[in-house]
Amino acid sequence: MGIRKPVVAANWKMNGNKQLVTDFLKAVADSGASTNIDIVLSPPATLLDFTQTQRDSLCKDVILAAQNMSQLDNGAYTGELSAQLFKDVGCNWVYCGHSERRHKYGESSKLVAKKFIQAKKNGLVPVLCVGETEEERKKGKAFSRLTSQIEAVINLAGKDCFDNAILAYEPVWAIGTGNAASPEIAQEAHKFIRGMVAAMRQECSENIRILYGGSVKPENAKELFSQPDIDGGLIGGASLKPHDFVEICQAAK
Ligand code: PEP
Repeated sequence: MGIRKPVVAANWKMNGNKQLVTDFLKAVADSGASTNIDIVLSPPATLLDFTQTQRDSLCKDVILAAQNMSQLDNGAYTGELSAQLFKDVGCNWVYCGHSERRHKYGESSKLVAKKFIQAKKNGLVPVLCVGETEEERKKGKAFSRLTSQIEAVINLAGKDCFDNAILAYEPVWAIGTGNAASPEIAQEAHKFIRGMVAAMRQECSENIRILYGGSVKPENAKELFSQPDIDGGLIGGASLKPHDFVEICQAAK
């Protein structure tokens, strides 16, 4: 996987509990999975404080991420959670624009760009998630969709926005369906995304880590992760099974 340190990130979505936090961290620690790769855990926000404490005693290397975050600093926004609140419970990374936020909660690319900027302003590493729907792919519009999602961030955040950031290609049709993109399709999209970054800043394109997400399992992880422009994965369903997650991490080495 060359000069870029692989990343394997767990996204528990609205699942999990304290027991799973402990089991997950023990499985990662016992397997030595975090040697030479960045392992990221994103449990529901209510579990973050507990996860931080457990992480510090069981497996210090694991990075904590928020699944979503407000674009605003603080104030009268009932139910929202800010960058500073996440930092207070040990988060260093945050996912921005996960497809479920875009499609189930109507987050526009402009709002996602504001969240991305807010993350950077507060010293959190944003993981910008992009990906086309099945219909867009069928109509030959996959790359124009990726372009518009990435340009929305560049337009608001500037040409050096991807320094100290992560990108994740997550085709909507592959998330939670059991139907992962083939290594060839994923590589083609990752190459396209890296090319977009290169057109802006060559050096950044060589360093930025681009993760693949969408039905990654122990059985398909190795082939996906061995593609030249795939630097690891964003894992949903399989990250709820500590044993499977650890196997996926081993495939990233
Ligand atoms: C995700 O939620 O980002 C994801 C990739 O989910 P799954 O692995 O379940 O497809």
